[in-house]
Amino acid sequence: MWGSRRNRDGAQVTCIACGDSVARSDAREYDKHGDRWNREDKEFEFFCKHCYRDLCHQPRDGLESLLVESRAGHSDREEFIATFYDLLADHGDSPEGRES
Ligand SMILES: [Zn+2]
Repeated sequence: MWGSRRNRDGAQVTCIACGDSVARSDAREYDKHGDRWNREDKEFEFFCKHCYRDLCHQPRDGLESLLVESRAGHSDREEFIATFYDLLADHGDSPEGRES
């Protein structure tokens, strides 16, 4: 998501939540596919510790898999939103309140 820049150990990474630069060693890896052990051809995203902690308080069970299932970033916007809401309805979840 942040281009093709490769981050090596000791490099700075960008928190995807607040945009702060943090040391790679201080960042928390976040794999949107939920599989941190398969590292092949992947670029991880990162949270700073502060945002990672905040994240834990958010009710977001299944959100990421829902986004992947909805082909977020791979289909056009309207198609994605339609699919996303269909899946949400299936999952009995609501996107309301995630904005703040
Ligand atoms: Zn952050």
